[in-house]
Parts: sequence; structure tokens; C-alpha cells
Amino acid sequence: MRASTFFMPTLREVPAEAEIASHQLLLRAGFIRKSAAGIYTFLPLGLRVLKKVEEIVREEMNRAGGLEIQLPILQAADLWHRSGRWHVYGPELIRLKDRHGRDFCLGPTHEEIVTELVKGEVRSYKQLPLLLYQIQNKYRDEKRPRFGLLRGREFVMKDLYSFDRDEAGLEESYRKMYTAYERVFTRCGLDFRVVEADTGAIGGHDSHEFMALAAAGEATIVYCGACGYAANAEKAESRSTGEAGGERPRPLERVATPGKRTVEEVTAFLGVPARKIIKTLVYQSDAGPVAVLVRGDREVNEVKLQRIVGSLRLELADGPTVEKLTGAPVGFAGPVGLNLPLVVDREVAGLANAVAGANAADAHYVNVNPGRDFTLDTVADVRLAAAGDPCIRCGEPLSATRGIEVGQLFKLGDKYSRVMEATFLDENGRERYYIMGCYGIGISRTMAAVVEQHHDAEGIIWPWSLAPFKVVVLPVNSRDEVQAALAEKIYRMLVTAGYDTILDDRQERPGVKFKDADLVGYPVRITVGQKAAAGQVEVRNRRSGETVLVDAADVVQAVTAICGV
Ligand code: ATP
Ligand code: MG
Repeated sequence: MRASTFFMPTLREVPAEAEIASHQLLLRAGFIRKSAAGIYTFLPLGLRVLKKVEEIVREEMNRAGGLEIQLPILQAADLWHRSGRWHVYGPELIRLKDRHGRDFCLGPTHEEIVTELVKGEVRSYKQLPLLLYQIQNKYRDEKRPRFGLLRGREFVMKDLYSFDRDEAGLEESYRKMYTAYERVFTRCGLDFRVVEADTGAIGGHDSHEFMALAAAGEATIVYCGACGYAANAEKAESRSTGEAGGERPRPLERVATPGKRTVEEVTAFLGVPARKIIKTLVYQSDAGPVAVLVRGDREVNEVKLQRIVGSLRLELADGPTVEKLTGAPVGFAGPVGLNLPLVVDREVAGLANAVAGANAADAHYVNVNPGRDFTLDTVADVRLAAAGDPCIRCGEPLSATRGIEVGQLFKLGDKYSRVMEATFLDENGRERYYIMGCYGIGISRTMAAVVEQHHDAEGIIWPWSLAPFKVVVLPVNSRDEVQAALAEKIYRMLVTAGYDTILDDRQERPGVKFKDADLVGYPVRITVGQKAAAGQVEVRNRRSGETVLVDAADVVQAVTAICGV
């Protein structure tokens, strides 16, 4: 490829809306452009990388016995009514009507439609296991689309569905996928960790997530250095580290806390530690509002809360609702005298003489004693696990880190086949439900996660496997005939040797070309400069920065030496 005829609009400035490295660099280096919130165009460079991720995933899915298909993106609501998910999915599902007024949605995932397909086409246990997959755009109207490709509303996903005759078969399919995922993310050059995960809206009974480790990741991973336990903080169970009891309850007292709304403000004003403050949050659930109590130094685990209240929908109540329900502005809610069902975290239940909002503006209660001053309706583990908590398995303190969820595996069992009445005939001629699994990989998200892990101040450093071009040949002065001719010759040698190469033959200043080469992140740069007259060029390894001077005739050899690094 010649840069002069290629389309790679790079930007010198950091785009204002981009907060994290991968988003900034993919925009600046001309890989993607935003079309609308969470919706991106892939430019030629971006599409090249995306297709490489896809190809790695495709090879590994095929190796594991997967068969590629393509399911429709546009799906009739009828299927979603049958699984019950038309209502469960909420506003994330992009719904639309056809000209006859019939409901449709854009697929956020494809369990329904693939189950329907297999139900209609497969009859016998002899045809199992069956592993079907596709690589396709998915649509989710995310509440907070952000970070470029990391959380889009339109994004590329690989989704595979396994159909087995029994649990043992599912185990085997799951194991194959687990191994395939390890291979995929290793080949993509990612530093990742596999964690136990919650099964969320997709449902099922066992799940793992593949997390690319990155500070920009939205997921918190807790892990135990001692026994190896690792889980998404949403899923991780926590042992209470509550205050030891024994403190004598003192009389409840109301104190003025003018304008002190946040835990930090109340902590500073009253001189009590955050762990003695009861944080009260009001959520809207299917059954109406509920109040959740966690310690001031803790966060509510909404996944656990959703399970506890048994609600399909769960949302933090907005300001006006909180005011109406508690009689106080946001920041002054508390359990004493509050007429709402209470979900009390175990740690809160164990507190003595705590501080809580008084359900009145500018006032708190001190010496709040759970059980005495408010009823313990539901006591449960409802907080997010955090670093320092004792490991649920071995009791050693947990560590925490952040990750980007690049893939997830679920054992679904008969969750979908049962509601959709998808059966096959076993060896005794009896009808049985398929035992299913589903397995997703965020293709576009993986591309961004790789950039998140592989970049420096100058730009992207693509792993060899994903580089849009492996080598850039850069004549310092394209007007210099000797340089231009040698660059051309080297370009041809590399292409003939099978290396995807780009020749930067643009009539640009050398500084621009060097900057672009680093920004785009080609693994190898070959600089054809002054020494061209002597038949010598510079070969530079983008990752290590190492530069060697070689004879033009040895260029292919020098590139081969770097390849795979
Ligand atoms: P998250 O928790 O990050 O919202 P999820 O658990 O809802 O993701 P899955 O339903 O497991 O996602 O989808 C399979 C894979 O698709 C995820 O592991 C992730 O890599 C990718 N993915 C999910 N949502 C998005 C998104 N909004 N943008 C880009 N990739 C996504
Ligand atoms: Mg997931």
C-alpha cells in the first residue's frame, strides 16, 4: 500500500471528548471516527485491525468445532415475548416497528433466534453437540456509551451458542470455549485474567469473564493472591469485616448538619469515620421503591440487590422521587422512621451508635442502633467486595484491580430451550431440552483494549498479530531520487516476502511522517535517508526503540528478526 493513495486522516490534537488512551489514539491515528454517541465508522486502518481480530477469533472458533452462520440483526418481537425478555431487557433494547406496526428489535444478543433455528432444524441427539457462531454488529442502547469502542451502542461481537444433550456435554463445550478464549486473547497480545462472573440478564448458572487488565477498565476485579480466587466485584461474595460489637448503645440524638450531604462532608463535620455512617440509597424496583443501607465506606452491589429484591428492573431513584419518599433533599435520607422496605447490608446490621440521615433537610441522627431504631426487614450481603476484604474461600485479604471485559462464557442449561420448547429425541426416543451455553467476545472492544495495553506517549504499538501494516518504509525525502528508488525497491522486496507493508511516499516533511509512523503504531519502521546512497537503511523496532543500520539486501532478514515480538 502507498500512503499517497491511502486514506488515513491523522489528527495532531487530542479530541476533546476522548478521555482514555485507546479512544484518543484510535481517533488521532485515523482508525475510527464518531458518527453519533457510541456509534463509529471504521476507517481503512481501523477496519484492517478489526478484521485481524475477527480472523483470530474465527480460526479459534473453528478449531474448537464452531460453525459460522449469520443470524438476522432485525428480530421479530414475538421471539422475545416467548423467552420473556421483551420486558426484561428494558431501554437497552432498540425497538422499532415495521410498516404494519409489528414490533421488532435490533439484536443485542441472539439466544432466542438461534434456539428457534435449532429447534426447527435439529431432531436427534446424533446431531449434537452443535456449536454455532457468528461475528456481527450488535445493538445496545447503553445508558452511558463512552470510551470509544469500549462501550458502544453499535459494536462487533462474536457470539457462539452450544447445544448439547446433557450437562456433561455442556461441560465439554464450555471447556473447549474456555481454551479457545485463552488462545484468542493470548494471540491478540492481551494481558488478561479469567474471573468468576455474575450471569446477569442472560441468565444461567455458571459464568466466567475474560478481563483485559487496564486502569481504564470499567470492571473491578477482586482476587486472592493466596488461593487464586478471582471474581468480578459484582459477583464476589464478601465476608463481613464489620465493627466488633460490644459498644453500649447510647440514646438516639438528632444533630444539625447544615449542607452536609455526602459521606465525606458528614465524616469531616461530625468527626466520625465513614465506616460508622449508614448510607441510605433509594432504588425503584418492579415492586416499588426500596431503601438500601450500606456503610459509608462501601458501595451498593446492584447485581446482588437485584437478586435480593427479585426485580427485573432496578434504578436509583431520581432527586424529586427521593425527596417525595423521604421528605428530605438528597443526602439526608436515613432508616429511622422511613416508611420504605429496607435492605440492610450485614455490616450495617452489626453497627452500634452509627450516624444516619434524619429524613429532614440539614439534619442527621447520631447513636443510631440497627434493630432498636429501625427494623431489620431484610439483612443480606448487598455491598461490593473491595480490596482488603477477607477472601471468601481462604480468608486472606483480597486485592483489587481494574479490567475490561473482553469476553464472557455462560452455562445456560435449559433456560432458553425450556421456555421456547426446543427439544431433540434422545437414544430412547424421548424428547429432551437442549442444554445450552453461550459465549461472547467483544471484537471491537478487544481492539480498544489492546490499544489500552499497548501504547506510549507517541502513539499505538500494535502487537505483530494485529498491526494494520507490519512495516512502514519511510523515505526521509521523497523528492530525493536515490531515496525514492531505494524505498520503492525495499517496499517491493517486503511485499514479495509476504510482509504487509506501507510505503510512505507522501510529499510531507520528514517530521510529519515520523510522527505519523509512531502514532499509527507499525511494529517496524524502515527509514531510507542519507545513507541510501551507500545502500544502507535504518530498521527500527517500534516497541523496543532499537534501531539497526542494515544493507538494503538484508532488510527482509532484519524484519523477520523482529517479527513476532
Ligand atoms: P458489560 O458488562 O461491559 O456491559 P455485558 O456483560 O453486558 O458487558 P455480554 O452480554 O457478556 O456483555 O456481551 C459479550 C461481550 O460483548 C462482552 O464480553 C464485551 O466484550 C462485548 N460488549 C458488550 N457490551 C458492549 C458494548 N456496549 N460495546 C462494546 N462491546 C461490548
Ligand atoms: Mg458480559
